[in-house]
Amino acid sequence: MNNHVIFQKIIKKEIKANILYQDKIVTAFSDIHPKAPVHILIIPNTFIKTANEINKKNKNIIAHMFYIAIQIAKEKKISEDGYKIIINCNKNGGQEINYLHMHLLGGIKLETLY
Ligand code: AMP
Repeated sequence: MNNHVIFQKIIKKEIKANILYQDKIVTAFSDIHPKAPVHILIIPNTFIKTANEINKKNKNIIAHMFYIAIQIAKEKKISEDGYKIIINCNKNGGQEINYLHMHLLGGIKLETLY
């Protein structure tokens, strides 16, 4: 399914989203169906479908996504209590939107799978 277009439109501000941060490389916005008091998505501005498409050429983008996620966690004052950063990949990973995205979740004690 080509649902990645939703995120492309958010980057270009063609559909409404609560954008918290944007630079040349990434965009961060509130998840529309938050699973925690803080639930923010961080995405690359250039299309990457899944984690499987991270390669030698684009891997620096992922480092920047991580860096921005952590800056936002600090800004939102969830860094001391802690948070989760999650990337779902494909069917078994529970990826619904086919555009690589990082979930930043916090503000509550989160369940752990392991
Ligand atoms: P995933 O299951 O990892 O693919 O996560 C996709 C996430 O995107 C879900 O948490 C959705 O709630 C979120 N989402 C879908 N559409 C939008 C939208 N238009 N604005 C903000 N978040 C969205």
